[in-house]
Amino acid sequence: MKVFLILIGAILLAGLIVWLIGERGKLLMPSTKKFIRMAGLKRFMNLSALHGYIYLRLQKQYLNFLIKANPTSPSFVRKWFTDRYHSKVLTQEQAKKIITIDKEIPLQKLEQVIPHEIARSIVLQASPKIVAFECGCRHSRPNPCQPTQVCLFIGEPYATFMREHHPKESRELTRAEALELLDQEHARGHLHSAWFKDAMMDRFYVLCNCCKCCCGGIENMVKYNSPQMASSGYVVEADTSLCEACGTCVDTCPFNALSLEDDQVAINWEKCMGCGVCVDKCPNKGLSLLLDEKKGVPLEVEMLTN
Ligand code: SF4
Ligand code: SF4
Ligand code: SF4
Repeated sequence: MKVFLILIGAILLAGLIVWLIGERGKLLMPSTKKFIRMAGLKRFMNLSALHGYIYLRLQKQYLNFLIKANPTSPSFVRKWFTDRYHSKVLTQEQAKKIITIDKEIPLQKLEQVIPHEIARSIVLQASPKIVAFECGCRHSRPNPCQPTQVCLFIGEPYATFMREHHPKESRELTRAEALELLDQEHARGHLHSAWFKDAMMDRFYVLCNCCKCCCGGIENMVKYNSPQMASSGYVVEADTSLCEACGTCVDTCPFNALSLEDDQVAINWEKCMGCGVCVDKCPNKGLSLLLDEKKGVPLEVEMLTN
């Protein structure tokens, strides 16, 4: 009995020490309190808030675990998971609008925007606080793409939580700096995506800038045929009279939607997610994005609020 009590005491003490290290010596940092308050009693009781806390505290390790476990996961597990942790592909313009909104916008009933079981609502915060954090997908790869600090946590409680809990791995950005980061990532051929997660109060919380070699979401789509990412609502179209079959766009596309056939670019409509990455890579300006209602409703703030 005595040994048992000592063991329980040691476990509780270790848990308290880990917690205090995570909270930087405090019982609860202000952003932790805010996170718990915003998550509400129901999420506290069903442990979703604890899941969210662990996710935010150990995001790199969490993604590393998922990426490593993915090859052996059965498809029904992937399906269950992608319904609860998914993203909307954004064009560069759509991503910029999320950063530059100037009034609070609650969007609801978004079944066509995000065709998954959760994320039926989004709260876009006016003049959002933006914090750049390390990309967990890149850190899970042996030769990660650079730079790695490209995940933009947007709005509260997430932005302040990441800044307070990861002071060495995060930085706060002004709107202008965030827009510049989006431009730089687009120029590198990386796509923008808005992420939603059950443990993040079923909400949008981070704007990612994803490369096709490291991103677990793109890997899920391309390698495992698991629909973790929803189309931007656009598809690419080609003016074949301008195409010289240089192949640049084919190499650029994260979703393998382009190929060369009979010395011209060919588009696989099914695979195209409308990210627009290929458009600016074509030296002859032969590619453009076209709205396509069969691809779902775009996440365009003005369109959804009108
Ligand atoms: S989703 Fe994209 S930016 Fe976010 S962690 Fe993965 S690769 Fe990085
Ligand atoms: S074809 Fe172009 S727009 Fe479509 S997914 Fe590929 S890079 Fe993105
Ligand atoms: S980048 Fe432009 S020119 Fe080159 S293959 Fe693609 S569409 Fe054709």
